[in-house]
Amino acid sequence: MGKFVNSKKAQFGRLDLQRDKLIDYLLSDCSLIQGSYTELLVKCGKAGCHCEGKPAHPVARLGTRRNNKAQNQVVRVFDRERIRSLVEVYRGHKAALTDLKDIHKKQEKIVKSIISDKDEPYS
Ligand SMILES: [Zn+2]
Repeated sequence: MGKFVNSKKAQFGRLDLQRDKLIDYLLSDCSLIQGSYTELLVKCGKAGCHCEGKPAHPVARLGTRRNNKAQNQVVRVFDRERIRSLVEVYRGHKAALTDLKDIHKKQEKIVKSIISDKDEPYS
């Protein structure tokens, strides 16, 4: 029984460490933008422009959803780097949420295995 308890405890401990790191990250002081950032090439539509053949003008777009309304904004050149990294932080937070759920699932699995290991059939 001792060996069993120690290995389960170690498994919980490893997962708790991972969870602590994720929570530290989530509680870190930073801003983010809940949205998607895309850069693409477009045609400007001016006659004779070199983009007539194929799209050549870079445009950055920020897609967001607030109060259930989708919004698609053009990001100014000056703001691109900042907006891109704010959206990146958002993705990091979403990934942390997924990892937290994953850890929770693993811990749940351990608890279930503990329950079935302790199960004593009555005969
Ligand atoms: Zn053009």
